Amino acid sequence: MLDALLAAEELPEEYRDRHQDILCNDCDRKGTSRFHWLYHKCGSCGSYNTRLIKRETHSSSS
Ligand SMILES: [Zn+2]
Repeated sequence: MLDALLAAEELPEEYRDRHQDILCNDCDRKGTSRFHWLYHKCGSCGSYNTRLIKRETHSSSS
C-alpha cells in the first residue's frame, strides 16, 4: 500500500536525485533510500521501520 502511495507521489525536482542513508529497525541493515519526508524503505527487507543515520543538508538555514 505504501509502495503504491510512494510511487504515485511526485517529488519536487530538486529531491529526485537525492538519497539518504537509513538504518532498518527490522533487519538492522544499513541501506540507502530515495529521499522522502516521511517514509524510507529498507532495501533489504522492504520495511518502512527505518531511521535516518545521515541527513543530506544542502541549505544552511535551519
Ligand atoms: Zn530491513
